[in-house]
Amino acid sequence: MQTDTKTLFIETVGCQMNVLDSELVVGSLRRQGYELVHEPTAADVILFNTCSVRQHAEEKIYSALGRLRQHKRNNPDIVVGVLGCMAQKDQGEVRRRAPHVDMVVGTGQLARVPELVAEVQKTRIPQYALSLGRADGGKHAVTASFESFDPPRDASMRPTPFQAYVRIQIGCDKFCTYCVVPTTRGPEQSRHPDHLVAECRQLANEGCKEVVLIGQTVNSYRFDHGDGRTTRLSDLIARIHDVGGIERIKFVTNFPKDMTDDLLDAVRELPKAVKYLHVPVQSGCDEVLRRMKRLYTVGSYREMLHRCREKVPGVAISSDFIVGFCGETESSFQMTMDLVREARFKNSFIFKYSPRPGTKADDLYPDDVPEDVKKRRNNDLLAVQNANSLDDHKARVGETATVLVEGPSRVGERQPAGGMRQLSGRTMTDHIVVFDGHDRLIGQTLKIHVREASPFTLYGVADTGEVAGGELTPRAESASPRRTLPLV
Ligand code: SAM
Ligand code: SF4
Repeated sequence: MQTDTKTLFIETVGCQMNVLDSELVVGSLRRQGYELVHEPTAADVILFNTCSVRQHAEEKIYSALGRLRQHKRNNPDIVVGVLGCMAQKDQGEVRRRAPHVDMVVGTGQLARVPELVAEVQKTRIPQYALSLGRADGGKHAVTASFESFDPPRDASMRPTPFQAYVRIQIGCDKFCTYCVVPTTRGPEQSRHPDHLVAECRQLANEGCKEVVLIGQTVNSYRFDHGDGRTTRLSDLIARIHDVGGIERIKFVTNFPKDMTDDLLDAVRELPKAVKYLHVPVQSGCDEVLRRMKRLYTVGSYREMLHRCREKVPGVAISSDFIVGFCGETESSFQMTMDLVREARFKNSFIFKYSPRPGTKADDLYPDDVPEDVKKRRNNDLLAVQNANSLDDHKARVGETATVLVEGPSRVGERQPAGGMRQLSGRTMTDHIVVFDGHDRLIGQTLKIHVREASPFTLYGVADTGEVAGGELTPRAESASPRRTLPLV
């Protein structure tokens, strides 16, 4: 469908990295005159930014592509593109299952999207832009084929102007046996600290208060200047700390083995560093960790947790788990349950193992835990985690928290905008707090008195003098807030 204004629709699946990639792709097409629309059938260009970490994320995209087949037949001039991880990993499969796709662009080639869209429109010839596979060339050539995509930022493209993701690292070299990321995102590369500081300065000039530094193993960030100097994550945070206007610096996701003392010292010493660490352990059983090739033991992970809490008093820690990994017995699962009982994670993201073709685990080990057992283990682990989260939250009732107000909560989204409604924000330990307040408080940092707790949310009253009566909006399941950090 061609109209006078060029229109663009994008659907994004997956992690923070994909959310940022989509923000930047949309920004680069807007500079070519595109306007974002919210219905695929209203768009001249329809893009899917994809994820391959679990099978169901891929199936979701194939279903969406299937639904578009007839629309594309009726409107042959539109452009349908598949971007990101599925594009890099499975271009042949995408072409086979969705032959109406005009453009397949891998994670390391996103800078080319505007040029490729124009080429399809001009020639109607499908366009493919992919980086080399990890075994398709020498280290230098493969690395060079994955380019970090860092065009100018566009504040209007972010969910809120006062929060932004900043990519400090691309790729991953850890090769956990279950994981596609080293294939889909290529070799680990750290961006130049000067560029990152400049980007944070620009974001601050646009009103950004919180930057979230992202990388697959963000704490292994290391930039070698080539003259004997290196910049570590702790050094980078210290430099960003000096950027006026930035109030909070967060970083995700950490690899347990790379949690160095200099980083923990920086988190403790630098007031703008958020006192929150996401450090996935994946399993509480050494034998499972060995098959996952996670490069640490449960004992060394426990030691790291202890060190984090000793060095950064009050720090909140969260984790990821995979349940039902190949060969996970009932007793290995119980070790994971024991770890969650004892570790006092703020929250945990729990996933059922999804075998991924091309990974070591898929080649070496049978997917031998039945689906109903994976489901039960997922529920059991979640129940233990939720009980812990409730205890953690209850202990915070009575505290006064410093909260950056992110926007309306889910309840607030259904209330009229522009006046009083339920708002949501986060504390310096990344705890979610909801409270009643005026929309003008969005983007401000406030003191909130915490009055009630559920496993997922703290309920409070703003210390602004504006909120009459201090009545809390009634609690409901749906009171959980909007997520601004999408989950992996
Ligand atoms: N780089 C991060 C790390 O090392 O923790 C996480 C990246 S991964 C995209 C996010 C989470 O997805 C992982 O921590 C893991 O729990 C989960 N995950 C990865 N591969 C998976 C698979 N094949 N099946 C189920 N969950 C998986
Ligand atoms: Fe995947 Fe492991 Fe790399 Fe995380 S560290 S992205 S789980 S390979």
